[in-house]
Amino acid sequence: MTCDFLIIGGGIAGASAAARLSELGHVVLLEMEEALGYHASGRSAAMFEENYGPPAVVALNKASADYHHSANGGYLTPRGLMLVSGPDQEQQFREDIKELDLEEINFAEAQARIPILNPKTVTHAGLHLAAQDLDTDRMVQDFAKAARSNGGKVITRAQVTEISRSPTGWQVEAGGENYEAKQLVNAAGAWVDEIAAMAGVAPIGIAPRRRSMARLPAPGGHDVTKWPMLMGVGESWYAKPDAGKLLVSPADADLVAPHDAYADDMVLAEGLARYEEMVTTPVTRVESNWAGLRSFSPDGSLVLGPDPDQPDFIWCAAQGGYGFQTAPAASRLLADILGGLNSELDAASRAALSPARLR
Ligand SMILES: Cc1cc2nc3c(=O)[nH]c(=O)nc-3n(C[C@H](O)[C@H](O)[C@H](O)COP(=O)(O)OP(=O)(O)OC[C@H]3O[C@@H](n4cnc5c(N)ncnc54)[C@H](O)[C@@H]3O)c2cc1C
Repeated sequence: MTCDFLIIGGGIAGASAAARLSELGHVVLLEMEEALGYHASGRSAAMFEENYGPPAVVALNKASADYHHSANGGYLTPRGLMLVSGPDQEQQFREDIKELDLEEINFAEAQARIPILNPKTVTHAGLHLAAQDLDTDRMVQDFAKAARSNGGKVITRAQVTEISRSPTGWQVEAGGENYEAKQLVNAAGAWVDEIAAMAGVAPIGIAPRRRSMARLPAPGGHDVTKWPMLMGVGESWYAKPDAGKLLVSPADADLVAPHDAYADDMVLAEGLARYEEMVTTPVTRVESNWAGLRSFSPDGSLVLGPDPDQPDFIWCAAQGGYGFQTAPAASRLLADILGGLNSELDAASRAALSPARLR
């Protein structure tokens, strides 16, 4: 099979790149699992918080907002974000509310929104009502659908095992088939450096970091559906309503090798204890748990665009904890770069996302 853009990886990064690049040429997307979004993209907290992330990520968040609000009927539902801290964490609280642009509220206001907050331990609270839930599953499927409707092919159970040079670009072996491509797009999430090594391209040093999640019954039998996401200062834990239950994450970021991630019991228990300290309802049961890998570049921003040494090898990597909220603008930027089009993103942000900054 021959194509213009061969995309490796069927998470949100690969699916959104496939949709945008299918407007420029023939796209083939290869995913090793049975379905799209099996790894990080199927395990996220599904939040859109515009102010979360380093400056270039915030620029992508803001440039993605219109798409999240209105494309395909919109992907957002109101959620809100509340930050809480104890008396000895005031300095960190001040830094966090400034960075996330939260409004400080008093305990009574905070408790009116989340009745289980513990008056003995919560001394400060901040709120940002504009934070939203994202319909992440639909977003992955809609991007894949857009790629297909432009003639692109989305192929699952196709693990890329060999990459070599061909006279016109690249030759790739996956799932027993051979593919020829002019340009290779590396959207393999935690595996991007392994894909680079396979292609003879110098790795960037992308760090996969595990983040775990526990699903609890609604605490104290409360109706949690309208509660904002609740976060401990310094991103030390967070809790988020999900289909009538509460997800609690220890907000772990342990460096691991790329693999099918699972939660570490001890890390989960310590995170649940940090959450429990700030609420009046003890954790009595964990219904299920999981983990996913958030992959970061050395400076924490995404890596988008041609490799400086091998420009037909395209990085679409290091989506970190922001892969969904940045996807519309990140994939647009990638297509603008590869299509030689003007980008709406400012020059400083483009430079801060370019692979060249890390070489
Ligand atoms: C617990 C948690 C909470 C999060 N919360 C949020 C949030 O609230 N908001 C937000 O925006 N982001 C959030 N994120 C981050 C977000 O989930 C990621 O940034 C995003 O999913 C990364 O997408 P990706 O496509 O790069 O990676 P992935 O979804 O991991 O996709 C990469 C794909 O490449 C495939 N692949 C790898 N090697 C090969 C190969 N050799 N051949 C073929 N295919 C291959 C893999 O099978 C995989 O499907 C969270 C992540 C976690 C884990």
